[in-house]
Amino acid sequence: CGIVGYVGGQSALDVVVAGLKRLEYRGYDSAGVAVLADGSLAAAKKAGKLVNLEKELSTRPLPTGSTGIGHTRWATHGAPNDANAHPHLDNAGRVAVVHNGIIENFAALRAELAERGHDLGSETDTEVVAHLLAEEFSAGGDLAEAMRLVCRRLEGAFTLVAVHADDPDTVVGARRNSPLVVGVGEGEAFLASDVAAFIEHTRSAVELGQDQVVELRRDGVTVTDFHGSPAEVREYHVDWDASA
Ligand code: GLU
Repeated sequence: CGIVGYVGGQSALDVVVAGLKRLEYRGYDSAGVAVLADGSLAAAKKAGKLVNLEKELSTRPLPTGSTGIGHTRWATHGAPNDANAHPHLDNAGRVAVVHNGIIENFAALRAELAERGHDLGSETDTEVVAHLLAEEFSAGGDLAEAMRLVCRRLEGAFTLVAVHADDPDTVVGARRNSPLVVGVGEGEAFLASDVAAFIEHTRSAVELGQDQVVELRRDGVTVTDFHGSPAEVREYHVDWDASA
C-alpha cells in the first residue's frame, strides 16, 4: 500500500518510519522496515498499526544505517499477520523487498523456486521476488540489473523496492501499473509511492515511467527500462502543500 526507500546521510530508519506515517491516510493492516548497517540487513515487521512496529523497534532496536526501505501493507494474498508483512527476505537474509500490487504469476514462480531448494515461509505473492532477486544478484552482482531481469518475468501490477546487503549504498525500485516517485536531495535520495512521504526533505521529484527501474545512490539517480536502455530523468518541483 505505502512504500518508502532512502539512501543518504540521515538515519534511514527515522526517515522511513516518518515517511510511512505520512502515508498512513491510505489505510493498511501491517507495517515493516529493513535497514542496511555494517554489511548486514536488519528487518522488523508487525501486523496492525505503525505504533505496533514502533513498539517492536523500541524493544528490539535495529542498528543505525543510512540505507533503508519500509512498507505499509494492504493484504491481497495471505492473512494480515507478522510473517506476511513486508519486507520479505531471501533465505540468506541478504536481500529485502517491499511490494505494492499483485504478482499474478506468483504460484508458478513459487513452484519453480521450491524446486530449486528455496524455502518460502509466507503466503504472499511478494516473497518470490526476494528469492528471484537473490538468485539474479548472485549471478551478476548488480541489484538494478537483477531487478530488471526479475521484472521481465513478473505478470501483474507492481511497485517494488529492494536493498541488498552486498550493495549497501543503493536502493532499487521498479514499477508497472502502480506508482513510484523519486525524491532527489543533496547527498540523499528517496523513493515512495507518494510524494507526501518525502516532501519534508526535498521538493525535487522524478516520476518513474511505466516499466522502468530506478537505481538510487547518494549522488544521483539512474533510470532504465526493463531491458537496461537508459530513460530520460526529468525532475520537477513539487509545490503541493504537505501540511494540508
Ligand atoms: N500483494 C501483496 C501482499 O498481499 C502487496 C499488498 C499491498 O499492495 O500492500 O502482500
